[in-house]
Amino acid sequence: MSNIKVRFAPSPTGPLHIGGARSALFNYLFAVSNQGELVLRIEDTDVDRSKREYEQEIIESLHWLGIKWTEGMGARGKNGPYRQTERVSIYQEYAQNLLESGQAYYCFCTEEELEQERQELISKGETPRYLGKCRYLSDAEKEAKIDQGIKPTIRFQVPANKIYVVDDIVRGRVSFESDGIGDFIILKSDGLPTYNFAVVIDDVLMGITHVIRAEEHLPNTPRQLMIYEALNFKRPAFAHISLILGSDRQKMSKRHGATSLIQYREMGYLPAAMFNFLSLMGWAPEGEEQLLSPSEIAGAFTLDRVSKSPAVFDMDKLNWINQQYIKKLDISELTSLVKPFLDNSPYAGSIGQMSQEKYELMIATVRDHLVCLSDITQEVAVIFDQIEYETEALQVLQSEGVQAVLQTFADEFPASNSPEDMKQHLKAVMKKTGAKAKNVFMPVRCAVSGKVHGPDLPNLISIWGKEETLNRIDAAIKIIHKGF
Ligand code: GLU
Repeated sequence: MSNIKVRFAPSPTGPLHIGGARSALFNYLFAVSNQGELVLRIEDTDVDRSKREYEQEIIESLHWLGIKWTEGMGARGKNGPYRQTERVSIYQEYAQNLLESGQAYYCFCTEEELEQERQELISKGETPRYLGKCRYLSDAEKEAKIDQGIKPTIRFQVPANKIYVVDDIVRGRVSFESDGIGDFIILKSDGLPTYNFAVVIDDVLMGITHVIRAEEHLPNTPRQLMIYEALNFKRPAFAHISLILGSDRQKMSKRHGATSLIQYREMGYLPAAMFNFLSLMGWAPEGEEQLLSPSEIAGAFTLDRVSKSPAVFDMDKLNWINQQYIKKLDISELTSLVKPFLDNSPYAGSIGQMSQEKYELMIATVRDHLVCLSDITQEVAVIFDQIEYETEALQVLQSEGVQAVLQTFADEFPASNSPEDMKQHLKAVMKKTGAKAKNVFMPVRCAVSGKVHGPDLPNLISIWGKEETLNRIDAAIKIIHKGF
């Protein structure tokens, strides 16, 4: 084991977003590829928006995706607790240290005062920020405020005129001026820490060596650098990974489709496909190969191949990858994966009466048409739905010689009907009628399914069996007679 240690630190204010899943994945890949460790920490200090259900859902999503952590929530670890609301006394102690060293101070400003200051700065065209009104309150003034029952916040005193520099592994050197940043709250009046404070304390106490997170946290980094400096903490390395954009190059949002990982699971994307796809969002392996197993990805993953430019969520690529993974599954595995979708379909009753052998044949027959597992319902519809003849199919049925082909097909239908028997039977019909393959397969397909395209014909017929197939042929012959 190396000394590399990373963390994924979601806020449980919603389900695990695609972007969050990608951050978790990159941390995991970095840990695995360096024989390091991954910590899962829950950042729930926004108590109004944080929910235990979301925490559970995030953890479940991470498990589903195949991300494993060695320390933190649900795992062992000597640096717990791993939920920030259970670490409040730790943050309070460090805030106290900063108060004592004069690097932080109590602030008694009310919401109204702060809002007024904000508006004044905005009207002067300046960046709204806290100008430090409570910095120099005398002890007597402070006591008076406390006597009035005002609960103070604790603000960090931002050093004036300083440049904070971070050599970000992905973004390169980034500098921030302290002057645009107002003294910020580290402990709220209810005693809870703010994100920028808690994150630093935790990363240090948990021994984090690399902070890999979304680019949107880059503007928070200077505040965090100030805390590291004030507490004499050694900083970790930082890597801010790019945003994920929708296909229109706008920040990925609900209007681009599903944004949470769980939704992809519900649609029937396979975790290994999702793992593969997400790993390629902002990272690229050396060769051209796009289909890589989790261990191949972990073996090839390095942060220097993580791109600075935004990643685009390419649904077509995800679909392609998922389809390839579905094709690689063995039938028994696929059969159990599609079961929940079929159990919820209108065909559940009919499927319940099928033999296991027929059921697996049906799945094998439609497998190559599945982009995601939920497609199963529409793909097997042809087997169970009442026939609706397409216009093109009706035209085929009207063609010369079709009735003779269908009649021969029905008259000579064999007793056993495995897919191979059905193939032989169709060939026998060709021989007997002298028709070419296409003039047998196409009319039979149109007669039994009402469609010109569809899954493998011998398989389809085999699934229906003799009685159902012949009923369908009969119905088609009647239609030809009626001369629609
Ligand atoms: N709780 C933060 C978030 O969910 C984590 C930020 C970080 O990784 O520092 O965005």
